[in-house]
Amino acid sequence: MKPEAFDVAILGAGVAGCATALALHAAGIDDIALFDAGASVRSDWVGESLPPDVSGLLKALDLWDLFQADGHEPCLGSCAAWGGPDLGYNDFLSNMSGCGWHIHRPRFDRLLRRTVAARGIPLRTCHRLAGVEALALEEGFQLRFSAENGERIAIARHVVDATGPRGAFARSVGSPSVRYDLLVFLTATVALADGAWPSRLTMTETVEDGWWYAAAIPGNRLSLAFATDPKISRKRRLDRPGGWLKSLAATRHIGPRLADTPLGLGPLVVRAVPVSARERPCGAGWTAVGDAAAIFDPLGSEGLYKAIEDGIRAAEAIHASLRHHEDRSDDYARRIAANTQDHLALRQHFYALERQWPESLFWTNRLSKDWGGSRVAN
Ligand SMILES: Cc1cc2nc3c(=O)[nH]c(=O)nc-3n(C[C@H](O)[C@H](O)[C@H](O)COP(=O)(O)OP(=O)(O)OC[C@H]3O[C@@H](n4cnc5c(N)ncnc54)[C@H](O)[C@@H]3O)c2cc1C
Repeated sequence: MKPEAFDVAILGAGVAGCATALALHAAGIDDIALFDAGASVRSDWVGESLPPDVSGLLKALDLWDLFQADGHEPCLGSCAAWGGPDLGYNDFLSNMSGCGWHIHRPRFDRLLRRTVAARGIPLRTCHRLAGVEALALEEGFQLRFSAENGERIAIARHVVDATGPRGAFARSVGSPSVRYDLLVFLTATVALADGAWPSRLTMTETVEDGWWYAAAIPGNRLSLAFATDPKISRKRRLDRPGGWLKSLAATRHIGPRLADTPLGLGPLVVRAVPVSARERPCGAGWTAVGDAAAIFDPLGSEGLYKAIEDGIRAAEAIHASLRHHEDRSDDYARRIAANTQDHLALRQHFYALERQWPESLFWTNRLSKDWGGSRVAN
């Protein structure tokens, strides 16, 4: 079969991939296609929230009205017991952009994919990247996919890696990451009785082995997550309901608020989060966006905002390259590096505030970490 050829092939139809596609399309580059390994959007979601300022990015992609009508839960701010036993409050009341959002992630991903389709951009599902070959300069890459009906080949002048934490394309072309930390998140969604969790604030609290967060999500459900060290998770068997519930019961704020409520506990989702960034998030004929470019600590709830913003900035650089033969890749790489440094500095500040458990492996490890990071091949 003759390979399909595109100006831009976007690998991964998550938030970063779809945002890049929509931004490229808006800039007049429409010879593009998205390829995703999965048959549909992921269903094992972790209860993400979006900050109020995301409205600006969604407006830029002409998505704001669609998003508002999509049934996500308003998030009015956050409260946290961090660095001490009592809750402190930070609400969005004075934010000019309004409230934030606790999103229904599969619904959000479906909205993005529907919009991509409505703008005439092809999306090939069940296409997992299986091989990459660099073509002569200016001709881009030949991509090999393992698809439902066998192998498929596509050629693209520019490739966008939006494959999430794996960074499948960046790894294929040998682009290493710098890892700053490795956390594990043990997340569950619980079904609640009406009114059992009235707060529309995200609640975060520290415990000896890490920190917990709770956020109301659409459908009268609550997302609960415990962030800890992989070694602690193994030792305390936190990936099993018994160990996880024991840790929840030891919290000062979240557990007691749920004490009188039967928890319809769904399956535990275990996600490793390597806080990391690509040494170089782009190269000749390719750009990484979203988690494929840099993975932030979920503490700041920044990942999705970053994924959308990366998509918009990547589209500007790709447009300059394909339409004007202008190389803006250094600007793009500098922006990713600066955002990562800002994130790491803020993260370090927050982890250093917590000194209630001087013997705790989790907190002493985070305090003594060499924040220069270590280079890893993927
Ligand atoms: C516990 C936890 C809590 C979080 N909380 C928040 C929060 O509150 N707010 C927030 O903004 N962010 C949060 N994040 C971060 C956020 O989830 C990520 O930053 C975001 O999902 C990244 O989007 P993405 O599009 O880059 O990648 P993904 O959403 O991972 O999408 C990648 C896509 O690529 C496809 N793919 C993968 N491999 C291949 C391949 N080889 N070939 C083709 N396709 C492929 C996948 O099928 C998928 O569709 C959290 C993360 C975790 C783990």
